[in-house]
Amino acid sequence: MVSRVIPVETFDLVIFGGTGDLARRKILPGLFRRFLSGQMPPDSRIIGAARSDLDDAGYRNMIAEAIAEFGGVESKDSKGLAAFMGCLHYVPIDATGDTGWARLFDLTREGVIQAFYFSVAPSLFGALAERLHTHKIADDRSRIVVEKPFGRDLESAKALNDTLAAHFKETQIYRIDHYLGKETVQNLMAVRFGNVLFEPLWNNHYVDHIQITVAETVGVGGRGSYYDKSGAMRDMVQNHLMQLLCLIAMEPPAMFGADAVRDEKLKVIRALQPVDYHHIVRGQYDATDTEPSYREDAENPKSFTESFVAMKVNIANWRWAGVPFYLRTGKKLKARSSEIAVVFQDLGHSIFKGDEARHRNILSIRLQPNEGMDLQVTIKEPGPGGMRLIDVPLDMTFADALGPDAEEVPDAYERLIMDVIRGDQTLFMRGDEVEAAWAWTDPLIEGWERRNDVPKLYETGSAGPEDAMMLMHRDGRRWRELKG
Ligand code: NAD
Repeated sequence: MVSRVIPVETFDLVIFGGTGDLARRKILPGLFRRFLSGQMPPDSRIIGAARSDLDDAGYRNMIAEAIAEFGGVESKDSKGLAAFMGCLHYVPIDATGDTGWARLFDLTREGVIQAFYFSVAPSLFGALAERLHTHKIADDRSRIVVEKPFGRDLESAKALNDTLAAHFKETQIYRIDHYLGKETVQNLMAVRFGNVLFEPLWNNHYVDHIQITVAETVGVGGRGSYYDKSGAMRDMVQNHLMQLLCLIAMEPPAMFGADAVRDEKLKVIRALQPVDYHHIVRGQYDATDTEPSYREDAENPKSFTESFVAMKVNIANWRWAGVPFYLRTGKKLKARSSEIAVVFQDLGHSIFKGDEARHRNILSIRLQPNEGMDLQVTIKEPGPGGMRLIDVPLDMTFADALGPDAEEVPDAYERLIMDVIRGDQTLFMRGDEVEAAWAWTDPLIEGWERRNDVPKLYETGSAGPEDAMMLMHRDGRRWRELKG
């Protein structure tokens, strides 16, 4: 396979919060990989802008250390690293004051693509947007990238949208959901809309149900106090799981373009039915002999915040009426595994005598680990024992299927940043999508708060609370096994 890296145009990327955790762990190591691959033109500039009092040299040292820690094998390329360092600059800036803005104005150039990454707390978005304009740094061709969380309910999301809209057009705003930058998620669209095989079966005539799982083995750790105000519903379901659900369920757009795709996703969110409380299970991880409970991690002994949610969701449209979508996500579970499984219906009639087993085709799309897909198909068990049937996976792990010369799969962040530079909004959430997702989750969260709903405890290292298993068993179905 021939590697095809298409360079983007020269850009200036200002990273507000350029000294923060996200910038050091993801954004800058990702940009370094794009630089090494030849995709980032060497006359581009990355300008860190944050509160710390650093100069260019101090910032380069900080980022070189971050790349050594988080950059993977590429960080050993010292010549490449030295060249990349030449692209880095730093401006100490106060988002809410006057410090640094004149210097930032001097640094940015006319005639190159300009992007501003807001990798800071959302409470600073308004101040940044305003100052970019009053100091005449941004114009109507500039792009801004904003991080999650995009609000904590419909009202705050609307307020954030209004704040940004006061200074930027929707076509300039890139709301990141890094799940959409994962190669497999995009492959989901390629598989659905690039093959004749799946789309005819992708409906309530052939699909029994769909499972979407995002399971983590880690707890809330150092983020406990932040997470406790959010919970799995806000932190994972409203954004990541909802986005995956949209991509699986949406109608084929007329073309692969930003608004065409996002229009179809929005229709899915609007067709989601309200969820019955009996169809949701909230959980909280319990302590073990050696590990703390959620409440200890969150330093809140009375916390009712959920670290796990499982739910059954229905989409009220012609394609999906009657097909349940089961969603689950949680922390401190048995395995780190993110997967979408499309479980097809049973055969109406089996011609094979004595074969009582239920054979099902299952298309599973793995986001992590080992990004890839497999399709479970029924075949004859090899050997002379007569016509015995077994189910085997047709496995397509991308790393294996594409071979050693394939272009290395970029991390979600680096891929998405390159899309920002290319001006492609397809994999970013539009304002109305985010609001529609909150409009659907808000009543559920409010209901729990009103009723002081207490999450069910689950064992660390398990697959979640027993009630989550029951949610499926009641319907005569089973969750897929969590495998790391
Ligand atoms: P962080 O606390 O590590 O860093 C915050 C950055 O903001 C620092 O660079 C700091 O100097 C800068 N800053 C704070 N106040 C400022 C001010 N008044 N003026 C200028 N700069 C200021 O935060 P983080 O973890 O890097 O997160 C940044 C954003 O990304 C947040 O919105 C967060 O929710 C989001 N996010 C982070 C992660 C992650 O893995 N860290 C993941 C998803 C989303």
